[in-house]
Amino acid sequence: DLSRVSRALLSVSDKAGLVAFARALSERGIALVSTGGTHRTLTEAGLSVTEVSDLTGFPEMMDGRVKTLHPGVHGGLLAIRDNPEHQAAMLAHGIPAIDLLVVNLYPFEATLAAGRPAADCVENIDIGGPAMIRAAAKNHEDVAVVVDVADYAAVLADLDAHGGAVTRATRRRLAQKAFARTASYDAAIATWMAGEIGAAPDEAPAFRALGGTLAQGLRYGENPHLAAAFYRTAGRLRPGVATARQLQGKALSYNNLNDTDAAYEAVSEFDPARAAAVVIVKHANPCGVAEGASLASAYARALACDPVSAFGGIVALNRTLDAEAARRIVEVFTEVIIAPDATEEAAAIVAAKKNLRLLVAGGVADPRAPGEVWRTVAGGFLVQGRDNAVVDDMPLTVVTRRAPSAAELADLRFAFRVAKHVKSNAIVYAKDGATVGIGAGQMSRVDSSRIAAWKAGEAARAAGLPESHARGSVVASDAFFPFADGLLAAAEAGATAVIQPGGSMRDDAVIRAADEAGLAMVFTGHRHFRH
Ligand code: 5GP
Repeated sequence: DLSRVSRALLSVSDKAGLVAFARALSERGIALVSTGGTHRTLTEAGLSVTEVSDLTGFPEMMDGRVKTLHPGVHGGLLAIRDNPEHQAAMLAHGIPAIDLLVVNLYPFEATLAAGRPAADCVENIDIGGPAMIRAAAKNHEDVAVVVDVADYAAVLADLDAHGGAVTRATRRRLAQKAFARTASYDAAIATWMAGEIGAAPDEAPAFRALGGTLAQGLRYGENPHLAAAFYRTAGRLRPGVATARQLQGKALSYNNLNDTDAAYEAVSEFDPARAAAVVIVKHANPCGVAEGASLASAYARALACDPVSAFGGIVALNRTLDAEAARRIVEVFTEVIIAPDATEEAAAIVAAKKNLRLLVAGGVADPRAPGEVWRTVAGGFLVQGRDNAVVDDMPLTVVTRRAPSAAELADLRFAFRVAKHVKSNAIVYAKDGATVGIGAGQMSRVDSSRIAAWKAGEAARAAGLPESHARGSVVASDAFFPFADGLLAAAEAGATAVIQPGGSMRDDAVIRAADEAGLAMVFTGHRHFRH
């Protein structure tokens, strides 16, 4: 079960912790071999190290593209120790056994994330490193492979506990980690290249799911009996939960992350240069969305849509969180606040609520940016482009006798923008740049329509107002009305204008009903299903 370590090969780009680790190996009588830069660092620290070129009989060449790609290295990593033929080959060719490999790769991901030119990214594709890592990992019955600086201490502990040997359990654990590393490394490269050549999801999906690095282990998943973790994808990250810095509060849960993502993606639809905007989310659905002259007024208007549901919600803002908004938000029990940034004063106000998480994403996401969405199905996964269609870019067709007024048109656009982020069937009532009733996730469109109208009435009643907030509002539907009933429910509730994709077999009947009810209606030609 134990394999003694007599010789280690070290070849690392990230030289953190290298000298201390190599010295500890050397003190335990282990011979050291290394490549150019690593060799320099170690000899400068006074350690005695053999150069890889002494093993290969070749100098490192071609800007380091060829350093360790040689039987003198790979034979020593791949030879099976108790196989007489392998041993004879090593003897015949003077190949020394390597029992411990320590490699971390050229920083491809960091080069990409720094936005460096393509040629720099290509030069940072490590070739010899992954080859050695895979060789050592394949031969884990005899060789230990370390790809993560964080494992240096565990290897030393193993060596000390087992008289200079590494256990099989450790070698297997390290080998699995090594293959995961080369897989994610190549996935990052392949994903980047897919972007460079404009590959569509149907051309290059499989590797994308692998290009993740662990961002955070989670206590559990959607339910307490489910294990869970949060991974970041490779490459330039979309501002949001993956880029966010948590300034304070309890650890985020799986549901927090999922809901915070929904909230921030929704608020990113609202250009911060045009108006302040706030989205309040519960269970991945918005329960209040509003624009305003300030974040504080937008928050108050978003909250008024459905104050009962907003309890324990996630609040996303499209501008730097300021003190005035922070003061209002902390008055309501809230799980998470996410904004592009926060002023010091605002952060201090939030700090009074110890558990409340405050996240700063570092920017707002571009709603028009391309991207992919994945979801698992039994035995596989589905990939599609992210929905980057924006209502401002859609030519709207007026289909009723009455055309919407300018104010109605602004609210229609607002409502359709929100409907895109509400689970289907989505019906959204809006007035003066704020939602007043949201119907989400129903199996029938007419039910969503009724629920949204009912909620608008409830909120008005709770505020002591004589008539429903839906009166004088406009209504958006994420997909066409298959029958006139959903539309008529909206008219009954008091909506005056409608926005929907159109395209039903019965559009004529629906348009006729709208005309009879005196509604103005526009078609977008774009559907925003969200399941
Ligand atoms: P050093 O700083 O020691 O000169 O280089 C260390 C880096 O070189 C490590 O990241 C290692 O993965 C990489 N490396 C080792 N051998 C080769 C090789 O043959 N070709 C390439 N491209 N990289 C290598």
